[in-house]
Parts: sequence; structure tokens; C-alpha cells
Amino acid sequence: MSASAIKPTAEPDARPKIAVVGGGLAGLAAAIAAADGGAQVTLYERAPRLGGATWSFQRNGRWFDNGQHVFMRCCTEYRAFLDRLGATDQVIEQSRLSVPVSRPGRRRARISRTGAPAPLHLARSLMRYSPLSVTDRLRAVRTALALRRLDPDDPDTDEMSFGGWLRFRGESDRAIASLWDLICLPTVNLRADDASLSLAVRVFRTGLLDDTDSADLGWTRVPLSALHGDAAARVITDQGGSIQLLAQVEAVDHGPSLTADGERVDADAVILAVPHDAVDELLPPDTVARQAELADLGISPIVNVHFVFDRQIMDVPFTAALDSPVQFVFDRTEAAHWAGDESGETTDAPRGEEQVVAVSQSAAFDEIGDRPAEMIERYQSALADLFPLSAEAEVLDAVVTREHRATFAGRPGTRRLRSGPNAAVAGLFLAGAWTDTGWPATMEGAVRSGNQAARMALDFCRGANASTLSWEDQRERTIA
Ligand SMILES: Cc1cc2nc3c(=O)[nH]c(=O)nc-3n(C[C@H](O)[C@H](O)[C@H](O)COP(=O)(O)OP(=O)(O)OC[C@H]3O[C@@H](n4cnc5c(N)ncnc54)[C@H](O)[C@@H]3O)c2cc1C
Repeated sequence: MSASAIKPTAEPDARPKIAVVGGGLAGLAAAIAAADGGAQVTLYERAPRLGGATWSFQRNGRWFDNGQHVFMRCCTEYRAFLDRLGATDQVIEQSRLSVPVSRPGRRRARISRTGAPAPLHLARSLMRYSPLSVTDRLRAVRTALALRRLDPDDPDTDEMSFGGWLRFRGESDRAIASLWDLICLPTVNLRADDASLSLAVRVFRTGLLDDTDSADLGWTRVPLSALHGDAAARVITDQGGSIQLLAQVEAVDHGPSLTADGERVDADAVILAVPHDAVDELLPPDTVARQAELADLGISPIVNVHFVFDRQIMDVPFTAALDSPVQFVFDRTEAAHWAGDESGETTDAPRGEEQVVAVSQSAAFDEIGDRPAEMIERYQSALADLFPLSAEAEVLDAVVTREHRATFAGRPGTRRLRSGPNAAVAGLFLAGAWTDTGWPATMEGAVRSGNQAARMALDFCRGANASTLSWEDQRERTIA
């Protein structure tokens, strides 16, 4: 018997090869959906870890996230993604929306819902919302009803600012700062005056006004890296996929193909899931709608200031703040003390009585350049005003995380800059929170875009025609 006869013949892998560039939530969702759909997936990520804009680090034995992340019950694809990761029990989900609103020296207010049908579910809370005058409360109810009548997909709506529209309806500066910004800032990562009306309508309608339970909030009990990146890596490799870390893709081209570390790799389809300002340099000119203008989507920063206090200073899991430099503050003790074992179990026993809190500041244009020591001093003093117990407490550790390019800036007129998933290279698809999902830059938008790109890439590999549309055709379809 010849040597070649006894050598086992390797079965050629009949699965379509799909390459995913970018290991943020869009790329992870795309990779998992493509692998679940029967593709052989290779994921390229230039960083040493997965998770993209959601990551964690350890310092003095505690875990800290790059920034607090929150989702709503209406984030259906993100929640399904968590389910696919086996991570649903690692998040907390409110059974009913309840947002405490703290003010120095004042009784805490609350935005909450009842079980009544939408939009009545918010009426009681709005009518009792003490930071606003009674006149402002009545006006807010009328404004909420008017918001429900706006179409987030109407291109004219995107040309207007949310703040401009609110003022046109007679909303006062106080109402904008104390109510509308409270929701717009953490969701659109811009103040109402700077935000696209269309994105605000998406958030308020889908998140708050159209369904009773859609705004119930959720957040992670474990470090973000464990929740997303580590769990997704397990799922992708279990599905036979390959993950290349520290793999900077230098170009994506016809074929489709990509070049990583100087080597050209051919694939049956490529999903490009990098931030908007990284797209142009990777693609041949005019591969994507308005490619040269993508940088005009802009960026909006987020700052988090993390404190370890030697005792409990706040008695709620999180709170918004008014009449204070603090926007939101979260109790992160459980995640900080995550045991990090394979099962992802958290430890129930906080170390001593210490409490770890994160002050989260969206659209932090004015302070992102401040020195960390300045920020720590500012927020330590602000926390003492909000929570008298913190004035007595000792700060055991404090650290600032700054995300200069946290999200694109969803300003008026930016919708037209957001590309759909199609490109003018056959077999290439786009994903990312910045693509035209209709959502602001959120985890939900990222996962939706990844799922959609994976569906289209699988269709393309199977020879279905939907994905051979050029971006112009796709755009025309979308507008029609
Ligand atoms: C501090 C902070 C707080 C936030 N809070 C919330 C929140 O409360 N709720 C919410 O829903 N959203 C929040 N967001 C937004 C949310 O995290 C993002 O919208 C989402 O994670 C973006 O995912 P993405 O995959 O589109 O992009 P990214 O996460 O940016 O992933 C893109 C990936 O591509 C990689 N990459 C880039 N170029 C290359 C290349 N050439 N080769 C290989 N890899 C490359 C990058 O390294 C990165 O990992 C927050 C973001 C930040 C930063």
C-alpha cells in the first residue's frame, strides 16, 4: 500500500468562509450569527481582546469597566445575543422601570412606570415629578403625546434638533435639563439641543412611549469583558470559528478579500464591523455610500470616574442626578468583586463594607481633557452633596476612564451619512453601531447591524440575490 493510500484524506470544508473584521458587539454578533448559519468564520480584531467599546480591566484586585453600559427591555436583539452567549443570568433586569433622581439636599424623585397601557404607564410618574413645576409637568405630558406622533424614519425629522423641537413646543430650559436630557444624554450621547430629533424619537417612542414595559432597564452584574468578549469567544470557537487577536486588517478589497499583517486572505464574504472613521482607509474609494464623508458623523466622548469607598455611600443601585455635575452614578460593587471563574459566577461577598461606584458622564466634551485628579476631586465633592454618607467615607481607590471616541455623534442631518449594510464590492457587508440601523450608537444597534450583515452574507454565499444590490440600489429601496 502506498503512503498516500494510508494517509487519511481530509474532507474539504464545504462551509462558506466568512471573514469578520472587528471584534466589537457588531462583529461578535455577526460572527456568531454567521457560524450558527453554517459558515466557517474567522474574526480579525486589532486589539488584544474582544468586546470593542465594551471592555474591563483589573486594578488592585478589583474589576472596572471602561464605562457603565445600560440597556432597555426593547433592546430585543441585544437581549437575544446575551441569551445566545448564555449570559442572561449575568445581567440585572428591572421588572418595572424605576429611575431614582437625586438632588443635593432634596427628597429623591423618581421616573417610573405603572402596569397601565402605554402611554398611560408614565402619566402618574410625570405628574408627580417634583423637579418640574406643575405647569412643566402638564406640558411634558402633552409633549410626550406629540412625540408619539413623530416618525423616526422621516428624513425631515432627522434635519431638526430635539432641543429645537422641544423649545418650539414651549418646553422650558428647566424641563429640558431635568427631564428630556436625563433620557437623551445617556441614550444618544448628546444633549437634546445637539441631538437629531429622529434619534430622540426612536429612543422615546421605542423605549418609553409605545409599549408599557419597553423601558425597563438592565445592566451587567459582571465585568463587561466577561459578559461579552470572553463569552463570545467561547461560542465562536465552539462553533469551529477562529479568532485572530492583534490582527490589524490593512485593506478589504474585491474578491472579496482582506489583507492582514501583509497577507491577502480570500473569503466567500467579508463583514466589515469597524468604527465609521476606520472604514474609508480600509476600502477602495466609493465602495460605500458617502465614504469620504463618514468622518462627518463625528464623535462624542464619555467619561467615567470610579470610586472605591470604604463603606456604603448610596442606598440605590443607581441614580440620575440633577443640580449637580454628576449625570448618573451606579453601584458597581458586585461586578468589581467578580470572582472570574469559568462559570462566570459572581461572588456575593463584598470585601468588607466597601462600595464601588461609577459616575458616568455622557457627551463629556467639556471635561474629557481635564486632569484625572481634577475630575476625581470634582466628583468626590459632588457625591458628598448627593449622598451625605460619602462625606464621612474614605476613598480607597479612584480611577478615571476616558473614551474620546465613545460613539458617533447623532446630530441633526447625520442619518444620510449612515450607510446600509451593502457595499459596491460583491460579498462585502457593513456592520457597526454607526450604520443605518435607525438607532443611536447603542449595543442594540451594534448587534442588529451584525445580525443583518450575517444574514446577508449567508444569503450571498448561498447565491441568493438580495445582497448583490449596490449601495445606490439599496439606498433607493430604503428611501422608497
Ligand atoms: C463608555 C461607553 C459607554 C457606553 N454606554 C452605552 C450604554 O449605556 N448603552 C448602550 O447601548 N451603548 C453604550 N455605549 C455604546 C456601545 O458600547 C457601542 O455603540 C457599541 O459597543 C459599538 O459596537 P461596534 O461593534 O459597532 O463598534 P466597536 O465596539 O467600536 O468595535 C469595532 C472593533 O473594530 C476593531 N477594529 C478597528 N479597526 C480594525 C482593523 N483595521 N482591523 C481589525 N480590527 C479593527 C476595533 O478594535 C474594535 O474592537 C457606550 C460606549 C462607551 C464607549
